[in-house]
Amino acid sequence: MKPLIFRAATLALLALVAVSCTKTDDATPTTAAGRDDNLALGNPSGAVASLSSPTNYLLVKDQYTLSYNRDQGKPNWVSWHLSSAWLGSAPRQDDFRADADLPSGWYQVKATDYSGSGFDRGHNCPSADRTSTVADNSATFLMSNMMPQAPQNNQQTWANLENYARTLVDAGNELYIVCGSYGRGGTGSAGYETTLAGGKVTVPARCWKVLVVLPVGSNDVSRITSSTRVIAVNTPNDNSLSSSWGSYRTSVDAIEAATGYDLLSALPSSLQNTLEARADTGPTN
Ligand code: MN
Ligand code: MN
Repeated sequence: MKPLIFRAATLALLALVAVSCTKTDDATPTTAAGRDDNLALGNPSGAVASLSSPTNYLLVKDQYTLSYNRDQGKPNWVSWHLSSAWLGSAPRQDDFRADADLPSGWYQVKATDYSGSGFDRGHNCPSADRTSTVADNSATFLMSNMMPQAPQNNQQTWANLENYARTLVDAGNELYIVCGSYGRGGTGSAGYETTLAGGKVTVPARCWKVLVVLPVGSNDVSRITSSTRVIAVNTPNDNSLSSSWGSYRTSVDAIEAATGYDLLSALPSSLQNTLEARADTGPTN
């Protein structure tokens, strides 16, 4: 009798453990954060990988997708997905270098082309957004991912916004981010310039960014609704700007009007109309 009762008790205990395990599983997210399409929200400028499109040339990398402008020596825009799946412990590589993926015959901006200019080699897709592997981090140091950025913009305003985006990931979100620069002429630490490297790199007048924030999940594009948080920022490329990125918030429509691009073009037009008309008023840190 005793062994039987003991066996029954053991079975009951096992069942209890099984139930509590199931309960624990249910409490964790059903979808783990993944690495999703860097261009899922659309190609803002209709960039194509064709030699006949040198000022709007599509360059697809595993880590980000961009439109390159050969005549300006910098990207028009760079688009990427950000989630915990892209984040790890790879150290900052700092291996700034020319991008050999550009079509042959095009000038490849060199790591030293910004030297002494008073402008930083400003990442579009940030180093700290790609730390899962050394190769991923290294890819962000290609000069095709850089724009001449006023140091106070790059190191303060822009850095604060980049850091804030990663706090949103820590809080259980994934993001789609597109950023870029336009116009001609900015004010760095050594004054106003329109170009660097003997005219091969244009100094932009403005640096902009659009972030779409979603709780971690799957089928991201279809989960975007009129209440999805969209943060649009447009900053002057001027060393005297404010360090608080929140003061440069604007609407996606305003950035579209300034650049001629169609952002978030993968979304239905009615949804774009709603999301793109308003400026974010949410927290900034
Ligand atoms: Mn619009
Ligand atoms: Mn749009």
